[in-house]
Amino acid sequence: MTAETPANSTSNPSTDSAPRSRQLFDRAEAVIPGGVNSPVRAFHSVGGTPRFMVHGEGPYLSDVDGNRYVDLVSSWGPMINGHAHPDVVSAVREAAVEGLSFGTPGVGEIDLAQEIIDRVEPVEHVRLVNSGTEATMSSVRLARAFTGRGKVVKFAGCYHGHVDSLLAGAGSGVATLGLPATPGVTQAQAEDTIVLPYNDVEAVREAFAQHGDDIACVITEAAAGNMGAIAPQPGFNAALREITRSAGALLVMDEVMTGFRVSAAGWYGIDGVAGDLYTFGKVMSGGLPAAAFGGRADVMDMLAPSGSVYQAGTLAGNPVAVAAGLANLRAADADVYAALDRNSRQLGELLGSALTAEGVPHQVSYAGNLVSVFFSESPVHDFASAQAQQTWRFPAFFHELLRRGVYPPPSAFECWFVNAAMDDAAFETIADAVPHAAAAAAAASAPEAVRER
Ligand code: PLP
Repeated sequence: MTAETPANSTSNPSTDSAPRSRQLFDRAEAVIPGGVNSPVRAFHSVGGTPRFMVHGEGPYLSDVDGNRYVDLVSSWGPMINGHAHPDVVSAVREAAVEGLSFGTPGVGEIDLAQEIIDRVEPVEHVRLVNSGTEATMSSVRLARAFTGRGKVVKFAGCYHGHVDSLLAGAGSGVATLGLPATPGVTQAQAEDTIVLPYNDVEAVREAFAQHGDDIACVITEAAAGNMGAIAPQPGFNAALREITRSAGALLVMDEVMTGFRVSAAGWYGIDGVAGDLYTFGKVMSGGLPAAAFGGRADVMDMLAPSGSVYQAGTLAGNPVAVAAGLANLRAADADVYAALDRNSRQLGELLGSALTAEGVPHQVSYAGNLVSVFFSESPVHDFASAQAQQTWRFPAFFHELLRRGVYPPPSAFECWFVNAAMDDAAFETIADAVPHAAAAAAAASAPEAVRER
């Protein structure tokens, strides 16, 4: 299989060489809202045809039209070891032949919980769930029950799944689609959420000065990845720790994206700031539907049946998903983390030097080995500065990469996820494609509304 042949040197999504994907997307749109089961997959902000992938192996994905791509999305995070890693695939096979779901306790659940506890010191007890959304939703419920308070502080541009109360000011697909607020979230739910600018300690202090007795928790991405990669400024997470502790509120560290990717212990392994509760997903799922939340035993043990906070799941701790997650974590040794760090720097340098050569204003932004590009003159440290970038350059940049066999995230507000399977050949493909993409970004013109400002 070969990468798509460039149709021309400028971006024109209508020239997509993906006729079978196009046909499938037409069918999908007839039966699935927007043709997708998660909004960013629909390519709305970049235009063109979403690719229907049929095969993943190492650093590559292949689509129904026979195009092969270096995958820089890695299933939005889980595939740190590359696609179809032999250990993960054989763990899934072995588990599946024993039975797909029992609805009873299983041995693998203990092993996966133990693996998480061994890696992240502040986590004493763990509960397994099916998605990151469930993990954050249940953590907030638990924080409210533990403190007897109702309000939740979150940061603009952070995404914690599609939990009603956490959709306000959200990043990821909400930012990509530019949705100001989501219909269906009640006024009461919105009122219980205090949205503050990321990396702004003063704003947090003020919110606590005003509402401190009502705040159950602060929930934050341990490092922000859903408005692009934005690391917490030095001392930000530590200040959240100090402020919440002195106000009797809990600190919920959302490590669904960073967990077990940016280090063996996630972002906790980088800044060592201990949360009361943690949420995990993605890497610990091995690519199957699994996630977790955990933390202090005194808080976690309020969950039913040891306590009275109800939380449950028909498929929670599913034996096949648990086997995949455990195998993915066990395959991620020190060499894998070194490769992830190296690959993210190499990718960032390739992107940065090509954009510099074309004179395109940009920032290559890192949070550990999460990396993204902002088309911006000045450093980006929060959602407002991320939104101020020249997003209109992104579709041209994206399509030129896609056309040349590189699959970046289809949004200017998402991280690029490297994997440890990326080899010299994968980097050669990227290195060949990036100068053309940078030229396309340079040639892109601002929409009239922006030019008139
Ligand atoms: N929290 C963070 C930081 C995420 O990045 C995501 C998803 O991208 C979620 C929560 C929600 O996870 P899920 O999509 O598994 O519900």
